[in-house]
Amino acid sequence: MAARAFDVVIAGGGLAGSSLGGVLARSGLGVLVVEKESGFRDRIRGELTWPWGHSEALRVGLGEPLDLAGVVPLPVLDFYEEDGRRVDSQRWEEISIDALPAIGFSHPRLQETLLTWAESQGATVLRPAKVVGVLDGNRPSVTVVQGGRTAEFQARLAVGADGKKSGARRWLRADTVTDPEHHWFGGLLLSGVHWDDTFGWAPIPASAVGWFATGTDSCRVYIRLAADRVRETGVGRTVDAFVAFAAKFMPEGTLDGARQAGPMGFFPNSCTWSSRIALGHAVLVGDAAGALDPTQGLGTSLLFRDVRALSELLTTDRDWERATREFARQRQAYYDVLRAYDRWCALLDAEEGPEADRRRNLNAAAREKDPTLGGFATLEARGPDGLVPDEEARRIYFGE
Ligand SMILES: Cc1cc2nc3c(=O)[nH]c(=O)nc-3n(C[C@H](O)[C@H](O)[C@H](O)COP(=O)(O)OP(=O)(O)OC[C@H]3O[C@@H](n4cnc5c(N)ncnc54)[C@H](O)[C@@H]3O)c2cc1C
Repeated sequence: MAARAFDVVIAGGGLAGSSLGGVLARSGLGVLVVEKESGFRDRIRGELTWPWGHSEALRVGLGEPLDLAGVVPLPVLDFYEEDGRRVDSQRWEEISIDALPAIGFSHPRLQETLLTWAESQGATVLRPAKVVGVLDGNRPSVTVVQGGRTAEFQARLAVGADGKKSGARRWLRADTVTDPEHHWFGGLLLSGVHWDDTFGWAPIPASAVGWFATGTDSCRVYIRLAADRVRETGVGRTVDAFVAFAAKFMPEGTLDGARQAGPMGFFPNSCTWSSRIALGHAVLVGDAAGALDPTQGLGTSLLFRDVRALSELLTTDRDWERATREFARQRQAYYDVLRAYDRWCALLDAEEGPEADRRRNLNAAAREKDPTLGGFATLEARGPDGLVPDEEARRIYFGE
């Protein structure tokens, strides 16, 4: 590999890195995206984007790759009780920005499509290749290993889009900060599922099951449980146990002909973030900057917002140190709202006992008076703008 200079070098070609790479290349910047995997596989990651995130993706011009990846519109969210009874429905067009639906998709297929799309917009993609170091300076020097050979690339800006366990945080001399683990979140992809809706959620205290279409014959099923309940129930040990547990929350017969179509896995659902998002000529986006509790499924919406916020700043401000500082300020503000919301949802949905029941009753009464709960109850549809996660907002949310 010959040493070359780019405006932007991005470590990581996941949804965040490839979206950002394509958008910046489309604006005429020289972009290099480095991705360590030679092909993407199902790692049990986000396959649902809420209407707010859908809107962010369209606003930044990602409509074409979303179509190419075959995303499935999910216009209604149905809520279920433990016996598989539908008790409520949310039609997104009634409350979302531009009446947009949520969308479901195959994560590896969208990764693949976005990386190919980034190339079609003019980005250079190196794959499989790994970023192993970044030296900051007036122009960062990015060290990449590909096929056993090492090369240096010069960049005006180095972007870390390397996920929740980001090594790029080291470039910024940042620490990884994690909330205490509270529950586990597991996923499994199934085919042969029979249903009359596309998106269901059964938030029974202490457990929750969600399911939605990711393609014409694929259904992603998620289970949230406390870690000790994952062990007790054995849902994480065998596919049969996972399916039997999930089926209890769905309309009868939904999973009768279901077949495993991907790996199964459970993950802790605490939020994890970087103590610093921008420094000098380096910046972080997506899960590398800060990942959310997967239960609320806001990670992909957040990364599409990152792509819009950072690309708008970089293409309108020639001073990129100032632009990335401003991105870090904005990112911190909207991440704080989303993280608070994740915590509040966990307190409300995931705990058992009289105190938790009291919280739920107060919340339900407050919802009667103000269905938006000060704006936080429509966050999935409308996003975090205008919301402040302060004590007053918390009291409104919990009906105190
Ligand atoms: C179980 C689970 C369920 C989830 N469900 C949802 C959901 O329903 N909805 C939702 O919105 N979000 C969900 N999320 C969150 C969502 O998956 C993430 O927020 C999203 O995938 C983050 O994308 P990313 O591009 O920032 O990071 P990643 O997807 O982690 O991508 C990082 C990329 O960087 C590459 N990389 C890493 N290091 C290097 C290196 N040194 N050099 C080159 N390449 C490198 C990796 O190979 C990878 O391709 C879920 C997460 C989990 C764990």
